[in-house]
Amino acid sequence: AFSCKLLIVGGGSGGCTMAAKFARRLPKDSVIVVEPSAEHFYQPLFTLVGAGVKKVSDCVKAERACLPDKAIWIKDYAKFIDPDKMSVTTAKDHVINYEYLIVAVGLKYDYDKVPGLKQALDDEKSRVSTIYSPDYCGKTWSDLQNFKGGDAFFTYPNTPIKCPGAPQKICYLAESYFTKTDVRSKSNVTYNTSLPVIFGVKKYADALMKVVEKKNINVNFKTVLKEIHPENNEAVFYQVDDPTKTQAVKYDLLHVTPPMSTPEVLSSNSKLVDKTGFLNVDKYTLQHCTYPNIYGLGDCTNTPNSKTAAAIAKQCLVLQKNLLKTMKGKTAKARYDGYGACPLLTGHNKCILAEFVYDGVPRETMPFNQANESILAYYMKKDLFPYIYWNLMLKGYYHGPEVIRKLINPLGK
Ligand code: FAD
Repeated sequence: AFSCKLLIVGGGSGGCTMAAKFARRLPKDSVIVVEPSAEHFYQPLFTLVGAGVKKVSDCVKAERACLPDKAIWIKDYAKFIDPDKMSVTTAKDHVINYEYLIVAVGLKYDYDKVPGLKQALDDEKSRVSTIYSPDYCGKTWSDLQNFKGGDAFFTYPNTPIKCPGAPQKICYLAESYFTKTDVRSKSNVTYNTSLPVIFGVKKYADALMKVVEKKNINVNFKTVLKEIHPENNEAVFYQVDDPTKTQAVKYDLLHVTPPMSTPEVLSSNSKLVDKTGFLNVDKYTLQHCTYPNIYGLGDCTNTPNSKTAAAIAKQCLVLQKNLLKTMKGKTAKARYDGYGACPLLTGHNKCILAEFVYDGVPRETMPFNQANESILAYYMKKDLFPYIYWNLMLKGYYHGPEVIRKLINPLGK
């Protein structure tokens, strides 16, 4: 058995960032990270891989290079978390005892909830892809290139997802590409979303509805992908308000955002999750609601923010402060304000940079109205944010743009 002061389960965006912060502050070998993957992906770039702007190789580094030398990495899945015994058992049956635990296992994709989807994704000739996975985002780009007109569909599932803007970003980028390649006049572009609105923050939803209108994209709300019949290029959708109401359509291109849920190690642990299967933490302090020595961050928690890397940057500082207090036997007082950001790519050099906090309140950094499409925001998303992620955030030195906001926009807007 291993034992450590701080155990981090999941070495993705949140896990690596917290490992960097605490490996620096605690003696050597105090921090253990359990993470099964040998590779670490910067997922926000998958959208630009789908649009032919970046390659998968631009999005990946070795996991070891993303973890601090002073942390121990156990390359394994966590199988069971026992919060009463303060131990984690891995798939290879290692037992790791901890004093403090950070859970950052992200989300998994439930392809099997849409019959026909996995089979379609794995078939190179299927015209079905998803930017959500490094295995399939390259296929999105080849499907766009092979599209010679007809009906293109883009979907948003009926579950919480990471980066809720990405399903429409790829739709806009595809539309922009079809315009460039002269197939737009021969095609219909449709965005089917389970949600009743295009985006959760009204200010940006209003701007996006104008984009949709300008681009002549059909938007169907409360409409969910039920199944795919790849052998005859048919997709079946149902209505959220009446799931018995279904409609079958023929597609020439189908981009799917898969349903998502927390990994089994979490969803099956009733002591740790709420009734939706997400880690039950205080939405301000990020401390577990029952076990004060457990914290959570990122996509796997039940905090009602937009599940983005941008949110994690902000959460990390709150978690750092609060966990250090907890380690000293004091009360966790730092509060996460729900900050999240979503660079909504609306074309090959355009972006609406949504930034907001809890309850859909905009919290913008730049001195211009960010609901307007901007070239600067496009290049920030494409070049600046990946740089910040690899070089500052994963090293534990980036906590979102608050400092910059105060400097360039001191009165706030
Ligand atoms: P992850 O980074 O996903 O890490 C979770 C880790 O846990 C993984 O490494 C996994 O292997 C590991 N794990 C899973 N199960 C177990 C287990 N049982 N035991 C141990 N480890 C386990 N964010 C933005 O800010 N801006 C964007 O523009 C943006 N665009 C996006 C576009 C796409 C297509 C996608 C997919 C994501 C996008 N995101 C964006 C979201 C962002 O990437 C995620 O919110 C962020 O990476 C989540 O970090 P995390 O640490 O919670 O989870």
